[in-house]
Amino acid sequence: MLAVRARALFDGVGPGLVERPTVLIENGRIAAVHPGGLPLVGTDILDLGAATLLPGFIDTHTHLAFDASDDVIGRLTAADDTTLLQRIRTAARATLSAGVTTVRDLGDRAYLTLGLRTETAQDPAAGPHVVASGPPLTTARGHCWFLGGRAEGVDGVRAAVRERAERGADLVKVMVTGGDLTPGSDPYSVQYSRDELRAVVEEAHHHGLRTTAHAHATAGIREAVATGFDTVEHCFFLTETGVDFDRQVIEGMVRRGTTASLTLGALPGGPPPPAHIARRIPSLVTGLATLREAGVTMALGSDSGIFPVKAHGSYPHGITAMTNFGFTPVEALRAATSTAALVCGLAGRKGRIAAGYDADLVAVGGDPLADVGAVLDVVAVVRGGARVG
Ligand SMILES: [Zn+2]
Repeated sequence: MLAVRARALFDGVGPGLVERPTVLIENGRIAAVHPGGLPLVGTDILDLGAATLLPGFIDTHTHLAFDASDDVIGRLTAADDTTLLQRIRTAARATLSAGVTTVRDLGDRAYLTLGLRTETAQDPAAGPHVVASGPPLTTARGHCWFLGGRAEGVDGVRAAVRERAERGADLVKVMVTGGDLTPGSDPYSVQYSRDELRAVVEEAHHHGLRTTAHAHATAGIREAVATGFDTVEHCFFLTETGVDFDRQVIEGMVRRGTTASLTLGALPGGPPPPAHIARRIPSLVTGLATLREAGVTMALGSDSGIFPVKAHGSYPHGITAMTNFGFTPVEALRAATSTAALVCGLAGRKGRIAAGYDADLVAVGGDPLADVGAVLDVVAVVRGGARVG
């Protein structure tokens, strides 16, 4: 039995903090949470002093195979699988050090991240708990085609989903639209027909796999919601000229329970956002408020790996970024913990500090409800009941 003590605790839901908590851990799980002092006999004690305990962060959108260099595609395509797996391991350790104890990887090559999944299941210090899609489904020369997930036509996409089920992927990711990262790909154009998207969802659900759709653009979000995807990645309702938080699409998300995995945050000191993005920020803030008021479930992902300012380990900057986009610190922390667990299919197991949950914790210096910047000061990380950082 291990007892973890700190000045305060955010349990993943809130709304407030528990003062002077003691978290009892046994066999990798949380056995009990006691507020206030507790006399302890025959127990190892990890006293974290003035820190605040939170559930370990859950990044709903990462790419461990991308190295956050200024030539992600070139570096990935030049690397053989052994080199790439080594980079994935390095990225996983950097991610864990930032307090992220679970990741949902949404795009690798050759299912390499599933190898890491096995390694971190055996050794909590090797990296976060991994949920992974393998290569995303895409079209010929479509978004992230270089990851090897080309699949077209109703029969083609069904076969691709079956392959992922056989390989042991945890979910299916589809590039519903193009993306900025891929030269020649258009983020505002839909890559698949409704029949193809419906076939993906039907086949995936038949195999017990969740589905998530890459879509920044309203056009793509509309198709993903209409065809029954569980989650939309990015979900910023962009149009070529601005943003369009379409009421009908939002109502569809609420009615069908489609969740959103927002990708926010970047390391400070990078170049300012390009003018076409900066211009949209005020309307994005308003639009995200519309999503929240409508009752859309929103979790936080990083999209780490894709740019230098999205280095592996930058996840806590997304929590502070959420508050710049109009969310309260409590809402941002939920999006990074309990809601993220829900989106990853891990509700009831991760994302909360409560009896029966996995003992995945992050301790930060200070009170993140009073000053959300405290999440950048990670003082301890516990995964599966073991201190790993
Ligand atoms: Zn991504």
